[in-house]
Amino acid sequence: MDARPLRSPARRLFARATRLGAAALACLVAACAEQPEPKRATHAILITCDTLRADRLGVYGYERATSPELDAFARDALVFDRAYSCAPWTQPALSSLLTGRPPEEIGVTPGNTKRMGKSVETLAETLRDKGFATAACVSNGLVRKLPPNAAGIGLEQGFELYDSEMTMREKNRVAFERDARGTTDAALAWLATRPRDGRFFLWVHFQDPHGPYLPPPELAAEFARPPTDEKLPLGTTQRGLGQIPQYQRLDGENRPDVYRDRYDAEIRCFDREFGRLIAELGARELLDDSIVVFTADHGESLGEHDQYFCHGENVQREQVHVPLLVRPPGGVSKRADRDERGYARSSAHVNHLDVAPTLFAALDLPSIADWRGLPLSDPTALPRDRALVQCFVALRKNVSEWAIGDGRWRLLWREHDAPRLYDVLADPGELRNVAGHEPEVVARLQKAYAEYERSLGARDGIETEIDDETSKGLEALGYVETQKR
Ligand SMILES: [Zn+2]
Repeated sequence: MDARPLRSPARRLFARATRLGAAALACLVAACAEQPEPKRATHAILITCDTLRADRLGVYGYERATSPELDAFARDALVFDRAYSCAPWTQPALSSLLTGRPPEEIGVTPGNTKRMGKSVETLAETLRDKGFATAACVSNGLVRKLPPNAAGIGLEQGFELYDSEMTMREKNRVAFERDARGTTDAALAWLATRPRDGRFFLWVHFQDPHGPYLPPPELAAEFARPPTDEKLPLGTTQRGLGQIPQYQRLDGENRPDVYRDRYDAEIRCFDREFGRLIAELGARELLDDSIVVFTADHGESLGEHDQYFCHGENVQREQVHVPLLVRPPGGVSKRADRDERGYARSSAHVNHLDVAPTLFAALDLPSIADWRGLPLSDPTALPRDRALVQCFVALRKNVSEWAIGDGRWRLLWREHDAPRLYDVLADPGELRNVAGHEPEVVARLQKAYAEYERSLGARDGIETEIDDETSKGLEALGYVETQKR
């Protein structure tokens, strides 16, 4: 693609991934023209964490020590400050991340109850077909391997090893998961036995910050602070509007500060095991041969917009803004521009659709025609006012919400409601709707969304045939509702 300047509006918005190869890593690795040619990545490693807000991490400015290991890793990575998920739900978010395609095109728009159509090709399939060994170790029950007779495909498609072994049951519902230690153990077990020769693609998905927040006791104690007098009703549904959702309830605890502290402790629990994984990759001399990308599938509301300890309820920033760290082979150049804390940062507006092209560019592989994202190898070259449909969600009772943004402005709307506009730079909490003051911005983003809709390709979606047991499990998770509710 003749990427820059992007001429047509549709291209400006949703440019197809470029065919940039490893040479395009120059700006990321070297940050200046005099640097030697960057090293091609032999392997690709994607590490994701469920329900992890960027602003609760040290690298993103959080004052508590939730993420010393991740912060240390970030010093060798490029840190993206304006990165967004495609949706606030696990299934569509991870499906887009692992295919490079928006949820609308792959049949996972409504939430967690759909699986991708059979014609969708995943990153793992493409890499496997190119001779890569492929392995995934995932710990959220929603992305466990589908039964052989299921319609559609799951995220296991293309992985030679798909370790979704989960024996831990959540406290309040029929949902299985695996803790961070078990996740790292599974990844290390594969690394110990992987084929010595050849290239590989490894995906590791941690679950820990997902509720209910039950960190190890020592971390719960470390992060506990005296709570304020704020109290909430203990919910009897899975919704988080003005209450503690049923699935999050910790016995009779009704003080939201206690939950917030426990959320922080859960992040540190994940962080310790993230650090163990990175250390082992380093010890095996794999880190500097790999492109490593870290992100979260979505965020979490901790009381913003009256939503407590939940996601998948709206597309406000706290549910869709995610951390995104890209570590090229050998790490970001020591000569790269860094902030006062030592991080190389980018304020480019990016989303999960950029991850697949980024991995392929680093691996020196041609991009895929269906991809809409751009390689993040050289973020300074990304279009400045890049408009992205950051997310959408089909809520219960057939209420949907969409958002589109350009890095500064975010426009959110539901059917039959007036759109809301936020200046995210001035108002990161999205508290002040300025749509009435900025009609031109509203019109521009509405036009951009219409262009996006027109640009969507064939819908490859197909609904998974969910058996009774799975249906009950999903209902218990709060992801589907029966006729009774
Ligand atoms: Zn999730």
